Amino acid sequence: MKLNSNLYSFSDNTFYNVTEKVNKYKEKHPDNKIISLGVGDVSKPVVKSIIEAMHKAVDDQANMETFKGYGAYYGYDFLKDVILENEYKDFGFTRDEIYISNGTKSDSTNILELFDIDSKICVSDPMYPIYMAGAKILNRNITCLDCNEDNNFIPTIPKEKYDIIYICSPSNPTGTCYTYDDLEKWIRYAKENKAVILYDNVYNAFIRSENVPRSIYEIDGAKEVAIEFRSFSKVASFTGLRCSYYIIPNEIDKDINYYWKNRTINRFNGADYIVQKGAMEVYSDSAKKEIKKNIDDYLEGAKKLRRVFENNGYSVYGGIDSPFLWIKTKDGMDSWEFFDFFLEKLNIIIIPGIIFGSNGDKYFRVSALASKGVIDEAIERINKYYEK
Ligand code: PLP
Repeated sequence: MKLNSNLYSFSDNTFYNVTEKVNKYKEKHPDNKIISLGVGDVSKPVVKSIIEAMHKAVDDQANMETFKGYGAYYGYDFLKDVILENEYKDFGFTRDEIYISNGTKSDSTNILELFDIDSKICVSDPMYPIYMAGAKILNRNITCLDCNEDNNFIPTIPKEKYDIIYICSPSNPTGTCYTYDDLEKWIRYAKENKAVILYDNVYNAFIRSENVPRSIYEIDGAKEVAIEFRSFSKVASFTGLRCSYYIIPNEIDKDINYYWKNRTINRFNGADYIVQKGAMEVYSDSAKKEIKKNIDDYLEGAKKLRRVFENNGYSVYGGIDSPFLWIKTKDGMDSWEFFDFFLEKLNIIIIPGIIFGSNGDKYFRVSALASKGVIDEAIERINKYYEK
C-alpha cells in the first residue's frame, strides 16, 4: 500500500501556521486582547426569514408527504428556478446547466475531474490557495502566473497554451476585480486555445463599481468558454450552512453536461434539502433587503480600513468591490515578519501574503468581514500606534 504522496508536501505557509503562531503567542501573553482582521469568515448571522424557512423545512422531514431523502443530485428545481430568475435572467440558462452544491471550496477543484488528467492549468499568484492544493491532491499540472502592482494584480495573457484557467474576481486575496476589458481578453485567449475558464465569483454581491461585471456571462462569448461558481457563504452568511451553485453552459461542448452529470451521480448525493430551502429564501424581498444592508456594512468597514492604512502611509489595494484589502508591508518586512510585528505591537491578526503565493511575500491581507466592533477597535489601535 502506498499513500497519495501529493498529500504530504504542503508548505509551512498556511492558515494552520497562522493559528499555531497565534496560539503560541496567547499562551505567553494570556492577558492580551487579540483581535482578528484575518479570518475570511463572516461575522453577521443568517437573517431571520431564512432561519424561519429552514425551521419549516425541518418539519417537512417529519411528514410522509413532504419528506425528502436521496434524489436531487444536481439540486432541487425550486432553488434552481429562483437562482436562474434572480441571478441569470438575461442569459437564458436552463435547469440543465445549473448545479446546486455544498460549497465552492470543494466545487472549485472537484470540477477538474471533468477534464483530462494531462490538461495544463494556470492560476494567478497570489491566489485562493485551495486551487493549488486541490489540483495537487488530484495530481494535476498547475502553473502560476505572476500578479503584482505592475499588472494591477491581473495576470498578463500568457504566450503558452493552457487548457484551464482559474480566475477569481473579486479576488481573494487581492480584492481586485477583472474589468470588462480584462475579461474580454481572457475570453478571446480561451477561445483561441480551446480552453475553459473556471470563474470563481463568490464575492459577486460585493461589486458596486460600474465598470466591473457581476457575472462573466455579461461578456460576449463567455458562454462558450466559462464555468461560473458562486456561493451563498459570504453573500448570506451560509459559511456554516454550506450551499453553492455553478453554471456549466451547454455551449462549451455539446456533451459537457452529460459528462458532468455522470460524474456527479457517482460522486455526490446532493446538497442538504433544509439548507436549499433556506437558500431559496435569500431571494425573498425582505431577505434581499437585509442581505444588501449586511454587505453594505462590510463594505463600509472596508472603506474605513482602507482609510486608516492609507493615512498611515501604506499602499493599499482592493477593499472597494470586495471585503479584502491587499496591503504592502513596510520597511522591507516580509509577510511573516509583518504578521509578527502586528501581533506583538498591536495584538491584531492579519494574514501574511505568502500564504496566497510567492508574489504575496511583501504583502498582507486584511478582511472587512470582521464585526464593526473589531474593525473600530483595530482602527483605534493602528492610529494610536502611529501617533507615537
Ligand atoms: N472561493 C473563494 C475565492 C473564497 O475566498 C472562498 C472562501 O473563503 C471560497 C471559494 C469557499 O466558499 P464556500 O464557503 O462556498 O466553500
